[in-house]
Amino acid sequence: MPRWSRSYALWIAALAPLFVLIGVLVFAAFEGARRDVEVVSAQRATEVASLVDASAVSELKLAQVLASSAPLAREDMAEAYRRAAEVMALSGNWRTVVLSDPARGIEVFDLRRPLDGGPRPMADYIAAAAPGLAGPTMSDITRDRLGVYVLPLHVPVVTDRGRRYLLTVELDTAAIQALVTTRAPPGSVVAVVDRSGNFIARNVAYESRVGRPATRYVRDAIAGGRRGLYPGVTYEGFKNYTAFDTGQRTGWSAHVAVASYLVDTPRRMSLAILGVVAVACLGASGGLALVAVRRMRSRRQEEARLHQSQKMEAVGQLTGGIAHDFNNLLTAIIGGLELSLKRAAPGDPSRRYLEGALDAAARGAKLTSRLLAFSRTQRLARERVDVQAVMWGMTDLLEQSLGPRIAMSIDVAEDARWVVTDQNQLELALLNLAVNARDAMPEGGRLELSTRRTPAKGRSSHDRVEIVVADTGQGMTREVAARAFDPFFTTKEVNRGTGLGLAQVYAMARQSDGEAVIESVPGQGTRVRLRLPAAPPPLAGPDDVNARKDAVTASLRRDRRLMVVDDDAGVRGVLVDELRLLGFQVTEAASGAEALAMLERDAPDLMIVDFLMPGLTGADVAVRARELRPGQRIMFVSGHMDNAALDAAAQGAVVLRKPFVVAELAETVGRALDDAEAPQTAPSA
Ligand code: ADP
Ligand code: MG
Repeated sequence: MPRWSRSYALWIAALAPLFVLIGVLVFAAFEGARRDVEVVSAQRATEVASLVDASAVSELKLAQVLASSAPLAREDMAEAYRRAAEVMALSGNWRTVVLSDPARGIEVFDLRRPLDGGPRPMADYIAAAAPGLAGPTMSDITRDRLGVYVLPLHVPVVTDRGRRYLLTVELDTAAIQALVTTRAPPGSVVAVVDRSGNFIARNVAYESRVGRPATRYVRDAIAGGRRGLYPGVTYEGFKNYTAFDTGQRTGWSAHVAVASYLVDTPRRMSLAILGVVAVACLGASGGLALVAVRRMRSRRQEEARLHQSQKMEAVGQLTGGIAHDFNNLLTAIIGGLELSLKRAAPGDPSRRYLEGALDAAARGAKLTSRLLAFSRTQRLARERVDVQAVMWGMTDLLEQSLGPRIAMSIDVAEDARWVVTDQNQLELALLNLAVNARDAMPEGGRLELSTRRTPAKGRSSHDRVEIVVADTGQGMTREVAARAFDPFFTTKEVNRGTGLGLAQVYAMARQSDGEAVIESVPGQGTRVRLRLPAAPPPLAGPDDVNARKDAVTASLRRDRRLMVVDDDAGVRGVLVDELRLLGFQVTEAASGAEALAMLERDAPDLMIVDFLMPGLTGADVAVRARELRPGQRIMFVSGHMDNAALDAAAQGAVVLRKPFVVAELAETVGRALDDAEAPQTAPSA
């Protein structure tokens, strides 16, 4: 994950609570605004509904007072007519008062007419309401005899003589209309409708709407409940939210409609803000989750690497220990076999067995040296190595190993040519990789060796050179790739694979402070990357090193006296015999103490000392020997040892590694003696 996006995600995550807080506050503000609109209109609706109800009820009460007045009870109609006119004047909201005689179907009087105007039939709207009328009743809006919309209040009257009349008060809708217009909030439409859904009053277009049915939104709302909020559109096309409430006695409802944007806009805004906050939170938590996942993955990779190197360490120690013991055994075996061969007569049939055994022992020696290659016990040089020279120097060997069906190419970048490592180990690693590539390409293919420079990255502060060995072979599955570096892991038949090739490659890279990585897909080839520390190019030409190596054509001076110090009788015996066969004069000591005692009497030209001995170690012997005889030449024989200790004790001394063949022994001793001839620069301990 790139750095910028990680810090971006972290910033979002850090700011997320702030976003949420702001979002919630703004949301709350908009919600509040919306609620305010809703609550205010609901309150207004309730207020209008109860005012309408109260005024209707007070008119009804007044009508009841009139209905129970004495003149009516006495059936003194002239007096009753006068009283009715008085009460009507008192109310101010009545259009007229009508007294009917339902039993006879006639009108007794109507305040709009003189009392002696003569009898006439009951008005239709009264006749319709009369049957079943039990008490004072408020009717819905209706047209009266003159075709005017009125609100009739009917009150039954029973006289002292038991006769039944019906008193009807025509309430003027203007009374309700006044309430509505004075209570309407600005910008709103307020209406009162009766139980059938017809307009009683309306603050807009009252004249044309009164007595007519309200919109279906209104009628649906009152059919559904006594109060609430509903969206609708008025006859004028005004999109609105309407709050309504219903009066207790009248059953008439008041409706207060506000423009829907007053409700919708805050609602939309708050929803939008909720959405933005949710998206921001999702983004932040997604970003965090991504960071967490990447962290976890890289930690797991680190753990895997640690685990791998711990495993290698453990296996390295184990195999190192085993290899040490094997080295001693093999040294004795090889030496013994070589001596026996020398003694066997040319025609002796046992020569064949001896040669076979020597061959097998030599193979064993090779194997132990490979075991040591990835156990830490082998000393790795840290020298400037010219990868280009190494690769070109190996082309013959590599081409031989690869066979004719595999094409090889080498591409070394000029800025990726010098590394710090052990040249021998690097050569061995390249050979191992080439052999693996050959095994993976039985039908032939291509092997590419290349290098490139990679800049310092992560914890390492040094540039790296990446050596890439890529083949076009069968590749590896994930499982195989995961275990390929393990020592002894092989997928090959018993006699073909040792499982030590990649283990050596891995150990070489690690011990050079580098790393080795496998990239492989089944069927698509394999790419092994060796990342090694880059070395600065040398100032002068590197060729004098090789010149010196060639100069070590030691002309052995066989009259020299040597002392062999080794606690292992087998190894010592072989060494002594071989050196004597080479023509040296040899004395032997079975321990450090014995060697020092001998040294006091006589100094040999060279002491050949086993490094690991019980009691006085090779290092101890070297120190004491140089105390006794400053400038004493010492050569170490070593199979398994601590590099630091060896370095400290060696002081430039030559080291012979077990197991060895006679030629190696001769060459090393020759070199040690050759060195002894030159003036010594290292100070004596
Ligand atoms: P060996 O070659 O003796 O089996 P190595 O340690 O060299 O041991 O390799 C271990 C295993 O890794 C091999 O057995 C093989 O399965 C796999 N392997 C190594 N290199 C390659 C490659 N270039 N292509 C395919 N598989 C490989
Ligand atoms: Mg191999």
